[in-house]
Amino acid sequence: MGSEVEKKAVFDMEAAKVVVKELRESFAAGKTKSYEWRVSQLKAILKMMEENEPQIIAALREDLSKPELESSIYEIAMLKNTCKLALKEMKHWILPEKAKTSLTTFPSSAEIVSEPFGVVLVISAWNYPFLLSLDPVVGAIAAGNAIVLKPSEIAPASSSLLAKLVETYMDSSCIKVVEGGVTETSALLEQKWDKIFYTGNGRIARIVMAAAAKHLTPVVLELGGKSPVIVDSDINLQVATRRIIAGKWGCNNGQACISPDYVVTTKDYAPKLVDSFKRELERFYGKNPLESKDLSRIVNSNHFARLSKLLDEDKVSGKIVHGGERDKTNLKISPTILLDVPQDSLIMNEEIFGPLLPFILVDKVEDSFDVVNSTGTKPLAAYLFTNDKKLKEKFVATVSAGGLVVNDTTVHLAVHTLPFGGVGESGMGAYHGKFSFDAFSHKKAVLYRGFAADAFVRYPPYTNGKLRLLRALVNGGLLDIIRALFGWSKA
Ligand code: NAD
Repeated sequence: MGSEVEKKAVFDMEAAKVVVKELRESFAAGKTKSYEWRVSQLKAILKMMEENEPQIIAALREDLSKPELESSIYEIAMLKNTCKLALKEMKHWILPEKAKTSLTTFPSSAEIVSEPFGVVLVISAWNYPFLLSLDPVVGAIAAGNAIVLKPSEIAPASSSLLAKLVETYMDSSCIKVVEGGVTETSALLEQKWDKIFYTGNGRIARIVMAAAAKHLTPVVLELGGKSPVIVDSDINLQVATRRIIAGKWGCNNGQACISPDYVVTTKDYAPKLVDSFKRELERFYGKNPLESKDLSRIVNSNHFARLSKLLDEDKVSGKIVHGGERDKTNLKISPTILLDVPQDSLIMNEEIFGPLLPFILVDKVEDSFDVVNSTGTKPLAAYLFTNDKKLKEKFVATVSAGGLVVNDTTVHLAVHTLPFGGVGESGMGAYHGKFSFDAFSHKKAVLYRGFAADAFVRYPPYTNGKLRLLRALVNGGLLDIIRALFGWSKA
């Protein structure tokens, strides 16, 4: 009995093979391609989220002490919105898109047909375990794929609830959850997938991409990076401060991919900005933020130790101007501001992914762009607070990032008409709204011709006259075509 249980618990290469085979059979049978199947599965996710909100909130509390408001809005309501949008728009998304044709193929018509890739793997991260798992799954379903979802083992209560709910509510012949960590994910990555959608850090992304390369599998990599916030002096200070706090500590206590990572402001303005942060942070989280119910905890002791190391570095530890309190037992770190941090410090050379916010000081606000660009990597998001039109223009023109927001933080995530994804080190590919459908669809080019107007010029024997006419046809100049047809030379 014991060995049977153990056997079942091991998810190895053989088990992965079996899962993929079953999904391939379902896909080949055309199950996932029907519009009705896609609708039924999207409705199932909606129902699953509606009927299990308390359980989901409890799992998130267990894994992260995530405040109920954040769970309810950022994990559940946002996911439901994604489903509702797909249910409303999918009938348009799946239609072939008419394409123009050229004289070269006249007469002809053309269209772009969105076809599902086939069997896809979604690997997700721990910080928003429901949203980051199921948001891509919605896109994959809408596009007609069979799916394996691998949630993060770092949020075990959420992972196990997800596995249970997906099995109960969804078509398990086409959508499966595989739980586990490195061993299980490695077994999955050995298989041939038609697309891999990975959310997490850049180090593992390289492992994922290398595994995908073996089978020439395309990937979407949703990664992170150091997302800067540039703060000008000509602003509404209170609104700016609150919006930075909401994006930093109000998003899983800084453990979010688009959380502000560091602030760049001028030496002159910094004292005013820091004072404003102190005021608003106390207003939001009280005098003892370690006790606040409105802040998530650090996910585990490894991450707690990593963040502590960033704070304890010699050149940084004296720079704390607010917060810095830690509770190792309960994995809590209070909102912490560090002023005038050297750029060669550890904290400025890795993604913080926690409640620490260093400030970098410059002489003029225009110098901020150089600070951001000097990191040599492109962040997932970049933020600017200003009323200066020229500065906004320069920001958009010179800062390369997955997405930019002027005068707010993180909220671009909720705009489904904008693609969400990184560039360079922050990732490749994008999703949200129709971009999710596109991320999981192959855009098949289809050209239709009849048998009329069979152009003799394509066929041998090749002559100079045919060459002239073909050249004119390919170049598309009407006058040249007439000239070639009548054998007139250009001179
Ligand atoms: P994580 O530890 O949960 O890892 C992500 C996934 O990789 C998990 O499913 C995990 O099981 C898998 N994994 C771990 N080791 C592996 C290995 N050796 N081989 C194969 N798979 C393996 O999450 P994380 O990486 O700590 O997440 C934080 C990072 O993710 C940050 O950099 C953050 O910015 C980024 N992130 C990005 C987004 C986005 O949407 N762009 C969202 C959330 C997090």
